[in-house]
Amino acid sequence: MRVRLIAVSLGLLGLLCVPAEAQGRDIGRDTLPAGDGWAAHGTGTTGGAAADDAHVHTVTDRAGLVRALDGGSDTPKIIKIAGTIDANTDDDGDHLDCADYATGGYRLEKYLAAYDPRTWGSARPSGPQEEARQASAARQAERIVLPVGSNTTLVGLGAKAVLKGASLQVRNADNVIIRNLDIRDAYDCFPVWQPNTGGLGDWKTAYDGIWLTGATHVWVDHVTLSDTGHPDEKEPTYFARNYLRHDGLLDITNGSDLVTVSWSRFADHDKAMLIGNSDALTSDRGKLRVTLHHNAFESVVQRAPRVRFGQVHVYNNRYVVPPDAHDYRYCLGVSTESAIYAENNAFTTPGHVEAADLVKSWNGSALHQSGTLFNGYPVDLLAIHNAYNSGSERDLTADVGWTPALHTTIDSADAADRAVARGAGAGRIR
Ligand code: CA
Repeated sequence: MRVRLIAVSLGLLGLLCVPAEAQGRDIGRDTLPAGDGWAAHGTGTTGGAAADDAHVHTVTDRAGLVRALDGGSDTPKIIKIAGTIDANTDDDGDHLDCADYATGGYRLEKYLAAYDPRTWGSARPSGPQEEARQASAARQAERIVLPVGSNTTLVGLGAKAVLKGASLQVRNADNVIIRNLDIRDAYDCFPVWQPNTGGLGDWKTAYDGIWLTGATHVWVDHVTLSDTGHPDEKEPTYFARNYLRHDGLLDITNGSDLVTVSWSRFADHDKAMLIGNSDALTSDRGKLRVTLHHNAFESVVQRAPRVRFGQVHVYNNRYVVPPDAHDYRYCLGVSTESAIYAENNAFTTPGHVEAADLVKSWNGSALHQSGTLFNGYPVDLLAIHNAYNSGSERDLTADVGWTPALHTTIDSADAADRAVARGAGAGRIR
């Protein structure tokens, strides 16, 4: 009897846990629910829901995806990705590796020899190897940069849709939905050496998994973003710096506004999410309004997110720093004129990462936080930041000058932590 009861319960559980696509529901015409974060502001976000039948595409390779994206046109369109699409492919669908893009005599060994700081100094790289690097990088960009235009919905079909090696770029476009997609490894074959970054110099990479630039009304939901395939920690060190291959997972810059990122998973990456990329870009004032809710940030080194200028509502997110995270830096980055309203987020960290390590401020002045859980215990991130911050950081005040009005039900951090562990990421839309 007991066995039968358990069997019935498990059967019921199985039914409840079947992803929407597997149940035959078409998520392609879903729109952002009213009130669900900043992307619901004003006209809301409907993506390609108005598409006629001729503009509903199922694509299985890069060529089909590029055709469906239509050069970033604003024609209403729904694009469904089936299976795995590799952006690093030629028009025949054959894989391209870094050597296939290299041109003009570019060779990494030659590049390293040419711009070694011990002989080249601290000037920006110039000359034949840098020119060859740029020409080679342009060849890769031509394949992997995929423009997403206004009135577009891009969704994964079923539970295993993968887009690898691509950088989706929503540039000066409005009304875009990206859902149920595993977007991985926007790998830069040709990082550039920047001698004047951060004192030691650094390798700069070109591609974000998703880049919103001048984009408005964007809903990113149940997306998984990661470096899967090429973890940066496995990359070598050149010029005493990690030869990074990836930039952001989801960067939101250059006047982008009204964005909701929900139920997504950011994993195994250095710089997860940059909202506002320059203190000097004062035209971002009043923009960069973003809602982040029910997302998982797991094995992320920094920027979850780092914010300039924007009113950013960060609620019910799950942060997990693994025990072997020796390069961990911070989660919430409070930069120039940012107004982060953080509530009911849960942080799980190993012993060497303390509550004072969760927030970092550069030139920021305020942070609202409430309902924060740190390894299961309530903490006040603001009080801890102000008590333990290093001399280079100002104290932060609690008044960020706004109170979020557009949001779904806000759960306790504890309940959200468990719900996000079960439900965030691609392949998990119910
Ligand atoms: Ca970026």
